[in-house]
Amino acid sequence: MPHDIRDITIIGGGPTGLFASFYTGMRKATARIVDALPELGGQLLALYPEKYIFDVAGIPQILAKDLVRDLVQQASRFSPSIHLNQRVVSLEEDGGCFTLVTETDRFPSRAIVVAAGIGAFSPRRLPQASAQEWYGRGIYDRVSDPERFRGQRVLIVGGGDSAFDWAQQLLDRAAELTLVHRSDRFRAHGATVADVTAAAAAGRARVLTFHELHEVRGNGGGVRAVTLKDVKAKTQFDLAVDVILPMLGFVSDIGPLAQWGLRVEGHKIMVSSTMETGRTGIWAAGDVTAYAGKLELIATGFSEAAIAVNQAVHWIYPDKKVAPGHSSNMGIFGQSDD
Ligand SMILES: Cc1cc2nc3c(=O)[nH]c(=O)nc-3n(C[C@H](O)[C@H](O)[C@H](O)COP(=O)(O)OP(=O)(O)OC[C@H]3O[C@@H](n4cnc5c(N)ncnc54)[C@H](O)[C@@H]3O)c2cc1C
Repeated sequence: MPHDIRDITIIGGGPTGLFASFYTGMRKATARIVDALPELGGQLLALYPEKYIFDVAGIPQILAKDLVRDLVQQASRFSPSIHLNQRVVSLEEDGGCFTLVTETDRFPSRAIVVAAGIGAFSPRRLPQASAQEWYGRGIYDRVSDPERFRGQRVLIVGGGDSAFDWAQQLLDRAAELTLVHRSDRFRAHGATVADVTAAAAAGRARVLTFHELHEVRGNGGGVRAVTLKDVKAKTQFDLAVDVILPMLGFVSDIGPLAQWGLRVEGHKIMVSSTMETGRTGIWAAGDVTAYAGKLELIATGFSEAAIAVNQAVHWIYPDKKVAPGHSSNMGIFGQSDD
């Protein structure tokens, strides 16, 4: 079934894309979000759902996953059409209409807002050949609910924020918790590292530095054991585990966007103060943009989303002003119009 044409199609359902979607509705235009991930929320849900965020204006403290929940609720007021597991691979333009093409679908649109963040990202996989068959059957590189691993013997591989965040979350849930890292230099928040290493000193977890995963073994049901290698002593030993969480970071790629005639430098789209990208009808906002003084923050993405959407709405419907007016006075929210 062909999809209806929307005024603005937003590539990316992270915080910037979600706010852009709300803003499009507030300007009485129609929105669609297309995202490669299975869930809305971008980096917040994929990378740090259980972390608190303190620097979103007006919200003293909120878990990343709860900010996503609220952004989705705010955007839902105007019923955007949402398409997940859809990675945009190319763009066509014909007679003043764009068509965004994904691996399995096509989405027509009058204008486009690129809110693709750091690009379509996927977790870096364990390189060991013996690990590959156990992905989804004991090896999980995305965690959304730590409760799932209660009572299990868990091995976390990595030394960054995600490795330590999940170690902290699993301290009181896992039956046994081991974190292995190939060096003794961690790239994680100091307080979280201190928490996990203190738990290890108290016998509630193991933190093995200068160790690597060497081999994964399982039976029909799933992972059963691993061989770990001490890279300094050059010795090996076996450890019984049920679950392996590789937290090796993400590989990201803005991929096809670089071929669309936008002003791209490295992995960023260079935008003007009105979020123009160098191609008529396409604006960008959020982490994907660059300009002098750019800050890669949620707050910045919100502001850029508002600028991009207002520009796009005015471009599609010249009788609509760029300046949106104040939401506190809008009839669309049941307020009395100025
Ligand atoms: C560990 C960590 C902690 C952080 N803490 C804070 C904090 O406290 N405060 C703060 O302000 N910021 C924080 N940030 C940064 C913040 O998360 C980003 O600034 C924010 O996520 C940017 O939002 P975005 O919507 O622009 O991009 P993203 O969140 O990256 O979302 C982009 C979306 O676009 C999708 N996408 C990309 N390419 C395609 C494609 N080709 N097809 C379809 N979909 C595509 C991706 O799948 C993704 O869902 C933190 C980041 C990390 C990693």
